[in-house]
Amino acid sequence: CGIVGYVGGQSALDVVIAGLKRLEYRGYDSAGVAVIADGGLASAKKAGKLVNLEKALVEAPLPGGTTGIGHTRWATHGGPTDANAHPHADNAGRVAVVHNGIIENFAALRTELTGRGHDLTSETDTEVVAHLLAEAFTSCGELAESMRRVCGRLEGAFTLVAVHADEPDVVVGARRNSPLVVGVGDGEAFLASDVAAFIAHTRSAIELGQDQVVELRRDGVRVTDFDGADAHGDVREYHIDW
Ligand code: GLU
Repeated sequence: CGIVGYVGGQSALDVVIAGLKRLEYRGYDSAGVAVIADGGLASAKKAGKLVNLEKALVEAPLPGGTTGIGHTRWATHGGPTDANAHPHADNAGRVAVVHNGIIENFAALRTELTGRGHDLTSETDTEVVAHLLAEAFTSCGELAESMRRVCGRLEGAFTLVAVHADEPDVVVGARRNSPLVVGVGDGEAFLASDVAAFIAHTRSAIELGQDQVVELRRDGVRVTDFDGADAHGDVREYHIDW
């Protein structure tokens, strides 16, 4: 339902939680976060309101990191449980992904992945994406290219945002029939399903076009289509005044 991603110099967890709070008005049944820290991925997710997640983070704090993603979920596939909350990870725990929308062909992809030895642990349509991204990353070594390859295999409506522990200063997003907005700051960048999530930090935003992938780094963003062609021409940049 709500998505936030961050890369920059601040605590990713603080920026992501604050952003998720700005998106709370949309309604949701669970929440979760993942940060890249100490060369690995650390995550926490809880059914219920954001306050449940915040309590869990007090009891079991995550290591600090400056790259992270977060999600508030409105369940469509699988009940509102901790296990079904996003982010979802691959079996090695190196990639984390959050998703708004529905992957229509997830059942076929799940069967295919199980056949290749993947162990899927949630009831969501989303989890297949984490496993597909992990496989693609193993073959190409780059998260944005992995996302492009995986998106080519997905049917349905999706906003996807992912991080990979082997590319610790990168956040990647993609969209089809579901919104995704990039915030460009000074030495930092944001991704969200709604500008409200990052308007406290920057008013410079890029609205992604249909079937586009964006790679965020501290020093800039790169937008392509699902085939890897630069797609800046399709992007609208605007400055919001309020
Ligand atoms: N279909 C996904 C799920 O049920 C995402 C739901 C959402 O948009 O929050 O987990």
